[in-house]
Amino acid sequence: MTIMKKVKSSELFMGKLCHGGDLLEEITDICQKNNVQLGRIEALGAVQKARLAFYNQQTHEYQFFAIDQSLEITKLVGNISLKDGSPMVHAHITLADKTGKAYGGHLASGTVVFACEFILEVFEGPIFERKLDEETGLPLWTMPKEK
Ligand code: ZN
Repeated sequence: MTIMKKVKSSELFMGKLCHGGDLLEEITDICQKNNVQLGRIEALGAVQKARLAFYNQQTHEYQFFAIDQSLEITKLVGNISLKDGSPMVHAHITLADKTGKAYGGHLASGTVVFACEFILEVFEGPIFERKLDEETGLPLWTMPKEK
């Protein structure tokens, strides 16, 4: 079932993350400290090493993999919504090595920032809450029923 609701842009933040920090954890921390419950994020920069995941659609499990080298962040794109009542960042990332070869996937903890510039957009709108979806095994968006 397709779910779509109107949201309204309310605030924009621009910033840089600290060198040596965990990319996903830093973004999550910013959202939690600023009570961002709904929004989107984009970023670019470089990482010292990466840890990503691929969701196996047959087994319904994430398969994690590490890339132990310095890489450019050519694009990080993500959204912020609620899971278990607190902000959760869901981000995917594309990274490139020194030859321009790209890697990509679901961003996991363990990706270490070399330098990262981000833009965070906060939305006003209905609550988007992640709940387990039986069909996919993923925590997907659900919304309160319409009256
Ligand atoms: Zn994902």
